[in-house]
Amino acid sequence: MFDKLSSSLQKVFKNLRGYGKLSESNIQDALREVRMALLEADVHFQVAKDFVARVKEKCLGKEVLESITPGQQVIKIVNDELVALLGSNRKDFDLSGRPVGIMMLGLHGSGKTTSTGKLARRWKKDGKHVVLAACDIRRPAAVDQLRILAGQAGVDFVAPEPNESVPALGKRALSWASHIGADFIIYDTGGRFQLDTELVGELKELRDAARPRNVVLVLDAAIGQESVHVAETFHKEVGLTGLILTKLDGDARGGAALSVQSVTGCPILMTGVGERQEDFEPFYPERMASRILGMGDIVSLVEKAQQSIDIEEMARVEERLKKDTLDLEDFLIQLQQMKKLGPLENLLEMLPGGANVPAHAKAQLAGASGDTFKKSEAIIQSMTPRERRRPDIIDASRRRRIAQGSGTAVSDVNELLKNFERAKKMTQQLKKAQKRLLRFGK
Ligand code: GDP
Ligand code: MG
Repeated sequence: MFDKLSSSLQKVFKNLRGYGKLSESNIQDALREVRMALLEADVHFQVAKDFVARVKEKCLGKEVLESITPGQQVIKIVNDELVALLGSNRKDFDLSGRPVGIMMLGLHGSGKTTSTGKLARRWKKDGKHVVLAACDIRRPAAVDQLRILAGQAGVDFVAPEPNESVPALGKRALSWASHIGADFIIYDTGGRFQLDTELVGELKELRDAARPRNVVLVLDAAIGQESVHVAETFHKEVGLTGLILTKLDGDARGGAALSVQSVTGCPILMTGVGERQEDFEPFYPERMASRILGMGDIVSLVEKAQQSIDIEEMARVEERLKKDTLDLEDFLIQLQQMKKLGPLENLLEMLPGGANVPAHAKAQLAGASGDTFKKSEAIIQSMTPRERRRPDIIDASRRRRIAQGSGTAVSDVNELLKNFERAKKMTQQLKKAQKRLLRFGK
């Protein structure tokens, strides 16, 4: 989502690096471009103005002007200020008390219910006992939506009773959660398209009845400039302790992420990066800044891999690789593990310079990886166990049968087998190279 901002900033830096020495006017020019880039990314104008002023003050110091790597120094200053703008350190929910109360609020469609489910899933995975309270009582569909998410996450769920008011429901859910010794209770509330007095009144009543330590605004990053206004208003009316920023996977320009924390003083706790329940990430100001400046976010990438990939399964595949017995069964496992990492184009964003890959190339990668995964999986699943173990027996008539069984073309089956052979050969070559290196090292 920071593609445009990222590439504009990198262009500015590239120019700066070209100078052996920087003059005040070089810096002025560069900062003007930084400000333009921020505004184009929908960063609130006051935030952009203050940001540039702070950077400028630091850049005009002696250390930068007389440095032998002035460009590098400026980048460092921009990076540090960007981290500060995003909230400096990672902040977590207030986890004191039992059960820990979290009230979710926000405009209609911002992602409250989805994020409630995501939080439940996350804490449940940590072995916590979670209760969800469906406080969006006006729309029956909203209660059902949360019920389904609670079921999927395997957590407890409290539905409204007929004619029950929101604060009464909140209180009842809380006393039940306390009674059963739950660790967390999350209140999913209703939203409107705009913040009106009735909604504010209801949210305040619920807040006073349930007294959650966390009052969290769920904010759709795609609403751009408007997000600052929304966050300010909710904060003034209800009092927020933190933010969840959703739809960071979309083509929003990222201004919200860069503005809301500095305007409200509330930390961004989590980010929604897709519709799936696992598309949810803690917010790390430093990593986000690196991503924006095109330095990549390797730490998050590695963490994601660790969470999604079944280490034992991969170790087994590696063991078989060593013995040269790699077969299509292993190939399928590898493909499935890759798929768990999510769309390849999202991973690309975390690599240095990844945000600069042109959109059409990303789209191609997205289409190709999704379709190829699905096809490859279907093809291997249509093989008999013996065929998977001994791909060399797959002759023309077997290929036709497999293609038919998997709903693909014979050319797809050929392609997959070729890819498998290629992967096998490559690993053998790598192994040989490794052995040579080891011998060389002795
Ligand atoms: P609520 O009205 O605030 O409860 O919003 P919902 O949780 O019902 O979400 C509204 C829509 O936004 C649904 O279609 C969700 O799937 C979608 N959504 C929520 N979070 C994200 C996200 O992080 N990324 C994307 N792409 N969609 C999201
Ligand atoms: Mg909802």
